[in-house]
Amino acid sequence: MIYQRSSALFEEAYQYIPGGVNSPVRAFKSVGGVPVFMKSAKGAYLTDEDNRTYIDYINSWGPAILGHTHPEVLEALKLQAEKGFSFGTPTELETEIAKLIVENVPNIDQIRMVSSGTEACMSAIRLARGYTGRDKIIKFEGCYHGHSDSFLIQAGSGAATFGNPNSPGVTQGTAKDTLLAEYNNFEQVEELFRLNPGQIAAIIVEPIAGNMGCILPENYFLQNLRKICDENGAILILDEVMTGFRLAFGGAQEALGIKADLVTFGKVIGGGLPVGAFAGRNEIMNYLSPRGDVYQAGTLSGNPLAMRAGLKTLQLIQQDPDFYTKINKTAETLDFEMSKILNEKGIQHRINRKGSMMSLFFNATSVSNFTEVKNSNISLFNNFFHQLLDQGIYLPPSGYETWFVSAAIGDKEIDKTLEAVRNFQY
Ligand SMILES: *Cc1c(COP(=O)(O)O)cnc(C)c1O
Repeated sequence: MIYQRSSALFEEAYQYIPGGVNSPVRAFKSVGGVPVFMKSAKGAYLTDEDNRTYIDYINSWGPAILGHTHPEVLEALKLQAEKGFSFGTPTELETEIAKLIVENVPNIDQIRMVSSGTEACMSAIRLARGYTGRDKIIKFEGCYHGHSDSFLIQAGSGAATFGNPNSPGVTQGTAKDTLLAEYNNFEQVEELFRLNPGQIAAIIVEPIAGNMGCILPENYFLQNLRKICDENGAILILDEVMTGFRLAFGGAQEALGIKADLVTFGKVIGGGLPVGAFAGRNEIMNYLSPRGDVYQAGTLSGNPLAMRAGLKTLQLIQQDPDFYTKINKTAETLDFEMSKILNEKGIQHRINRKGSMMSLFFNATSVSNFTEVKNSNISLFNNFFHQLLDQGIYLPPSGYETWFVSAAIGDKEIDKTLEAVRNFQY
């Protein structure tokens, strides 16, 4: 049995950790089988506890955009660790990374660091509510903004995988302030504004949705959201936890030419350590404590090790003028060649891709919202997933997730991946 040690470790983990994992999608519940336990990662590759290696298309769900354990990030972390792990005081390093981000991301003057994307989104809506003096927010079906109560209404990611649109434990009181619309359906947004005049604090949206698989905005969807926010004095929050520093250094704002009032970050911004952030113009960010009254805090916020990993990662990206061209090209080749092979096999599918984010849907029609995602042939995806896994290709263990290409993936890895797709039998 090729996953022998993983199976034993999972059995043991199951006794002590709920479901055996510390984040649900890791459990392989959607694709079936036993999750693979990894023990190390380097460049494009993961190594499991049975000493098998895999080409990695999750990359820690996005953060490892340079590939794993980049030598320069590792060195920077070692040097930082010698100086201390956490001080609970301000450090120069925090200003250094804040300055780099503010100078390079459009439409932001200040940024506040937190420890996860969940915290970033939760804090951003509190700030939007504090700033506007309104209670309601609009989110879209299948979009995921972390696991805070307000967002666990028709959320994507793990919640989509497990088919629980709304989590028990979220009160009616909280749920009533979260208004829902279908992704790419602007008419529903207009209707919500009509029905809730003067009550909507913010729209929060993934500019490229990545937590119901990869879904692209269509028909000026984001531009229309921008317009309706302006007309109604509401805040447009672009959740760039996934897209920030991945689509472009300036994120989706730069890549898609869309202007946000507040932006949330996570994933790439921490280079693999736990970091999130939210940012905006002075007029809004000045509402945040200690300058303003909207409270938000964190014992480990701006942690020096996390800041060092993030800063080094961002600097390495910035130093390479062709960084995004290269990873996008790698993803494009994978997209194009994989599609060709699947067509030759007569397998109906759709690949949605923006830059280095992509998803393969076994679907006969285009996929542009959560309902269409759910029409995909998930059992075929699960079969595909396992056959590729057995051949050393690590895809996200769910048909509702996005694949991430890292800079460490080169021609050799793409060739090997395509070979595994060629071997797929259904
Ligand atoms: C991952 C993700 C989050 C949540 O971030 P965590 O660090 O997992 O809390 C929020 N929004 C989007 C768009 C994400 O992809």
